[in-house]
Amino acid sequence: KRKMRKKIVAGNWKMNENLQEGIALAKEINEACAADKPNCGVIVCTPFIHLAKVAEVLDQNFVALGAENCADKEKGAYTGEVSAAMVKSTGAQYVILGHSERRQYYHETAEILKEKVQLALANGLKVIFCCGETLEEREANKQNEVVKAELDGSVFNLSAEEWKNIVLAYEPIWAIGTGKTATSDQAEEMLAYIRSIVAEKYGKEAAEDTTILYGGSCKPGNAKELFAKPDIDGGLIGGASLKCADFKAIIDAWK
Ligand code: PGA
Repeated sequence: KRKMRKKIVAGNWKMNENLQEGIALAKEINEACAADKPNCGVIVCTPFIHLAKVAEVLDQNFVALGAENCADKEKGAYTGEVSAAMVKSTGAQYVILGHSERRQYYHETAEILKEKVQLALANGLKVIFCCGETLEEREANKQNEVVKAELDGSVFNLSAEEWKNIVLAYEPIWAIGTGKTATSDQAEEMLAYIRSIVAEKYGKEAAEDTTILYGGSCKPGNAKELFAKPDIDGGLIGGASLKCADFKAIIDAWK
């Protein structure tokens, strides 16, 4: 039986769209969702420079705003960084942390991510925390231990109260931007595993209430099949979140 936990479709724009394009895209998404109300939570995660302006065009009652990253330091002499408090002050409610692109290209370790998660939560942001294995790790059948280590290292230290502000996203690295989705069975198998380790840590009830997303080449054509799985509570969408029609079609997979 399907649990009543929150269903979410979140867009991750990554390093795409200049300011004008981003505002236009956000407006379009907001209008599409205003005209035809989603059956799930919708989140748009944008580059830092868009946040304040996009906050002005979104009705966050149905399209919430999020950032794609925040600093691992509170404030001060950290040239080029953007703090969790700054993100929050734009009106954003969420932040993506632990994305594999940040881990791989910007060397974000479990320890750094643990700091970021703490600061995000302390500043009133909800965290979309990503985990997922490489192709080599999957081929060696190590995906479960890799994902568990990522959660152990950065979020399983949180209190039960803090845990309520965590959304998890499983994104197998081999499926991100490659057009190669995990099959719905592979995704379900991992999400059920993640839910089982959340249950070990926080108890069965908290695990049943935890929203867990799948990400990695989720598109209008496969969203319905993925979301039909009992443990998949929605998607974290990269490429397909940059076209309003595609993003809305994925949102509508919940109808
Ligand atoms: P993709 O990206 O949908 O383009 O595969 C997903 C993500 O990295 O969040």
